[in-house]
Amino acid sequence: MNILLIGSGGREHALAWAIAASPLTDSLYCAPGNAGIAEVAELVDLAAGDHLGIIAFCREKAIGLVVVGPEAPLVAGIVDALTAAGIKAFGPTAAAARLEGSKGFTKDLCAKAGIPQAGYERFADRSAALHHLAARSVPVVVKADGLAAGKGVTVAMTRGEAETAVEEIFAGRFGAAGAEVVIEDFLEGEEASFFALVDGATALPFGAAQDHKRVGEGDEGPNTGGMGAYSPAPVMSEAVMQRVMAEIIDPTVKAMAAAGRPYRGVLFAGLMITAEGPKLIEYNVRFGDPECQVLMMRLKDDIVTLMLASIDQTLDKMSVRWWPEAALTVVMAARGYPGEVVKGTEIKGLAEAGALEGVEIFHAGTRRDDGCILSNGGRVLNVTALGTTVAEAAARAYAAIDRIDWPEGFCRRDIGWRAIAREKKT
Ligand code: AMP
Repeated sequence: MNILLIGSGGREHALAWAIAASPLTDSLYCAPGNAGIAEVAELVDLAAGDHLGIIAFCREKAIGLVVVGPEAPLVAGIVDALTAAGIKAFGPTAAAARLEGSKGFTKDLCAKAGIPQAGYERFADRSAALHHLAARSVPVVVKADGLAAGKGVTVAMTRGEAETAVEEIFAGRFGAAGAEVVIEDFLEGEEASFFALVDGATALPFGAAQDHKRVGEGDEGPNTGGMGAYSPAPVMSEAVMQRVMAEIIDPTVKAMAAAGRPYRGVLFAGLMITAEGPKLIEYNVRFGDPECQVLMMRLKDDIVTLMLASIDQTLDKMSVRWWPEAALTVVMAARGYPGEVVKGTEIKGLAEAGALEGVEIFHAGTRRDDGCILSNGGRVLNVTALGTTVAEAAARAYAAIDRIDWPEGFCRRDIGWRAIAREKKT
C-alpha cells in the first residue's frame, strides 16, 4: 500500500526507516519530512494542520495508511478527519488524545480507575492555586493542563518556585494550555518510558526505554526534548512491566472505552519506578522522541502490520518480537540548544559515520541545500546503534559521532551511564 507519514523529526525518520523496510509498503511519502527522511520517502510540502490538504493528497496518491508522528495534529483531530474521509490512520481520535492534551482529564480518569499516580489537585483559578500552595510542603510539581511543547511542568524545590510557576501559567505563558493548573505530589524514584500498542480494547506491550532529559552530562542543566535514550531499560524488569500492564495500561484502556473514548494507537506512559512500585507520571499519545529511534532499531516484526492491527482491532491476535541487542541513541544538537541556536550550518561525514557496523543516523532537524546537509533546528541528528550491551551500543554510537564533522554541534558524552554502570556491576 501507499503510506503517508506526518512529521519532520528524528522520531519520524526512524518510523520512515522502519515503514520503508515493510513488505507491505509500496510508496512512502512524508509531510513535511527532513533531509534524512528524503532518503527513504518522497517529501510532500503539506502542514500537519492542513487536514483538507492532507485528505486531498491521500485521495490523489491512493494512500492506504496515514501514520501521525507528533501529538499536536492528533489532539487537533487529524485521525477523526481522515477516518471520516474513509482513510485509515494510525493514532488516537481527538477524544482519546485528551490523555496527552489535558493533564487534569488524565489525572481524574486514573484516579477513578485506581491507577497508581501522584496525588493532585486541579485549579482553574490563580488565587485558589496560590492558597493551596501556601499550605503544602515542597518539593511540589506544578503543571499547565494542556499541550505546552514539553515546557509546562515545573518541579519546584521551594514554595517560591511553585508560586512563580502558577503565576506564569495564569499570566498566559502557555496560552490556552494554561487555563488550568494541576498541582501534584513529588514522586521519588527512577524514571522510565513504557509503550503499548492499543486497538481500543487490547493493549500489546511495545517495549521500554529510558531517556536523558537534561542538556548536560551527569543529567545537569536545563530540560530539553531529550538528549539520548536506550532500550531495553534495566529498571523495567519483566515483573515491573507486568505490573505496569496490569495496574496502569489495561485499566486505562478499559476506562477510556467505558468513557466512550476508545484509545487506538501507541500509548506512551511516562513512569516513576518508586519504592512502592511503578506510578504514572503522564501519558503521551504518540511515540517518544528519541525513544522511538531505539525501539525501531530493536523491533524485529513489521511495524506496518502492527499499526494496521491497531486500526483493525486485531491486536489480540498479534505478538511483538525484538532483536536481542540493546539500542542507544545520542542526540547531536546545535550549540546553544535548548536556547537560541544558529540554523544552516553544514554537516559533513555522515556517510562514513553511518557506514559503521550497527549504526543508523536518523535526522531530527536537517535540510538539503545544493547537495549539502545543513542543520535546521535545535536537535539535529540522532546517532543510533545496536550492540550486545548498552555499553557496546554506546561505543558504536560515539565512534560514529567522532566521524561527523560539524563544529557547530554538540552532544552529551555520557548517554546510557546508568545502564552501563549496572552492566559493569554484573
Ligand atoms: P511531564 O511533562 O509530565 O512528563 O513532566 C516532565 C518531567 O517532570 C518528568 O519527566 C519528570 O522528570 C518530572 N515530573 C513530572 N511530574 C512529576 C512528579 N509528580 N514527581 C516528580 N517528578 C515529576
